Amino acid sequence: MRFYSTNDPSRRAVSLQEATLSGLAPDGGLYMPVQMPRLPQAFYNNMAEMTIQEVAYVVARTMLGDDVEAADLRDIVDDTFTFDIPLVRLGKRTYALELFHGPTLAVKDVGARFLARMLRLLARNLDREIHVLVATGGDLGGAVAHGFLNVPGVKVHVLYPAGRLTDMQRSQFATLGANVEALEVRGTFDDCQRMANAALLDPELRGKMLLTSGNSVNVMSLLPQMFYYFHAVSRLRAAEPNAADAVVAIPCGNLGDLAAALSAQAMGLQVRHFVAANNANDTTARYLATGVYAPAPSVDTLAAAMDVAEPSNLPRIRALFGGDHRAVAQRVTGCSFTDAEIEAAVLDNYCSIGYLMEPHTATAYLGLKKCQGLAPGIFLATAHPSKFAPAIKAITGADIAMPDALSSLLDKPWHARRLAPRPQVLKRHLLAEE
Ligand SMILES: *Cc1c(COP(=O)(O)O)cnc(C)c1O
Repeated sequence: MRFYSTNDPSRRAVSLQEATLSGLAPDGGLYMPVQMPRLPQAFYNNMAEMTIQEVAYVVARTMLGDDVEAADLRDIVDDTFTFDIPLVRLGKRTYALELFHGPTLAVKDVGARFLARMLRLLARNLDREIHVLVATGGDLGGAVAHGFLNVPGVKVHVLYPAGRLTDMQRSQFATLGANVEALEVRGTFDDCQRMANAALLDPELRGKMLLTSGNSVNVMSLLPQMFYYFHAVSRLRAAEPNAADAVVAIPCGNLGDLAAALSAQAMGLQVRHFVAANNANDTTARYLATGVYAPAPSVDTLAAAMDVAEPSNLPRIRALFGGDHRAVAQRVTGCSFTDAEIEAAVLDNYCSIGYLMEPHTATAYLGLKKCQGLAPGIFLATAHPSKFAPAIKAITGADIAMPDALSSLLDKPWHARRLAPRPQVLKRHLLAEE
């Protein structure tokens, strides 16, 4: 498979290795596969009996072809999914896709683990150190750091906004040391993302070091996010007669999950409609409603991983539909919810069925309920409630036990270097590394 940049109308294509090792295209665009291959009918006939590893392998193989040796790809997929992604029935025709059973208890584990293993494979034949830049508003830093911890030849730099992460989210990368560096930015998540992207595109840095992205802008984290939609539909088919009518609700920040869902649909995934659920940061919902992209400054909410003003994967979504906003809006409905609505949903689900959901998940749940009608519906449960124990305790009064492996992290000393929110500051810091 070859990849083109969403900023390049001539669609000049580059190799898998180049797309993965550069993260962003040199023109600032995002890499996309030049075509979306269709999965064979036999796959759909058999998927209900397949494990998540088998589903992922077929999807990856169809997309990547012979670019990766079959045996290597199987190892990468098996090694990515050391945990399950259960589809849990919560009520009539309503299901939670629990994406939070990985090592850092959030959806980011899937993309980050696959990306880390692919980069490790590609790096095997290079004699240069790879620097991976990650901008995180919450869960991604920990997931990428764990994916790469102690991998020889790779150094990870995690940028995060000061004061916006929970202590536990910060501890998941800032206590590790070794080849993982924490960079605390006195600004917002969007500042972190802007700094990372400027560094990726900087000709001097590109000339001196091998720098790539650990964020969902890297096309190798888009592919693994597609796996779980196929897996979800395979499980829904076993439970619901009209699974092809399903509505799937996605809590949206940088739109990596939504871009993957729409890509999966382009490969033949049978889902009737998607819901893009925003918190008060509603750039995406407003774009879907009006066709106008008008980012407003981000505001702090309970669902901080979605406090994104400028969603980085929007160009991918536009590219999938040839820039036709109306075509996007036919497939996806946007909506946004206030913190008060999110709190009410957390409380309501806890009181009525005893199911604890954290704020990101509750946002997706609200989106589903708004658009589901009588169709079978899935909402993405993107983080384990224990990652947001204080917020959930404040809303419901419930105490959530944190897994030991995580609570012990909070006792460890953490270290971060503080950076001003300017691209030049990050550049100087990276140059000093070389
Ligand atoms: C990253 C994240 C999201 C948003 O996903 P995007 O792909 O950035 O839109 C939602 N919930 C949680 C818990 C996350 O960590």
